[in-house]
Amino acid sequence: MARYTGPVCRLCRREGTKLFLKGDRCTSGKCAIDRRSTVPGQHGAANKKMREYGIQLREKQKTRRYYGVLERQFANYFEEADRKEGMTGENLICLLERRLDNVVYRMGFASSHKEARQLVLHEHFTLNGKKVNIPSLIVKAGDVISVKEASRASSKFKALAEDAATHTAPKWLEVKADAFTGKVVALPAREDVDFDFNEQLIVEFYSK
Ligand code: SF4
Repeated sequence: MARYTGPVCRLCRREGTKLFLKGDRCTSGKCAIDRRSTVPGQHGAANKKMREYGIQLREKQKTRRYYGVLERQFANYFEEADRKEGMTGENLICLLERRLDNVVYRMGFASSHKEARQLVLHEHFTLNGKKVNIPSLIVKAGDVISVKEASRASSKFKALAEDAATHTAPKWLEVKADAFTGKVVALPAREDVDFDFNEQLIVEFYSK
């Protein structure tokens, strides 16, 4: 499946906010948004006023890029969120949070969504004791995600486990970094997601 392979800092500059796509670099002084936050391109610095549609589109793109989800996949998540009871926008964010790659990232076992996706694809994790390699898999309450036994001795995972030990996971996840494992103790609620999304704008975008 085709994925965006261009410079990711450009995506943050396009959305005008940090999307945390590059791991440690995002919190260092090297972050492109901290150094130059204008929109990329020849007319990027021009202060263009966005219309309603443009604002909604940007919010959808920002959210999609933050989670590293393709256009069609994102639209499918929206349809699923819309079918569920409750607020569609909140359902959408909670559904995206439950993706396995996001869970690995939230547990602190990857420094970015992209790294989490790669680690899952390369079968470094198990779900309830079984091998798994599907980043888009939606976890359920009670699921246990662990680093595969054979991967634990690698210097990469030792370093990641050390990072995870100092990382604050959201309260819907219970992480035991020294045991290379984490459990989904509850489904995420909208207030558990501290990234600045305006999901209502996404609902308006798809309602046109
Ligand atoms: Fe975005 Fe991270 Fe690049 Fe900063 S360093 S612009 S947050 S990807």
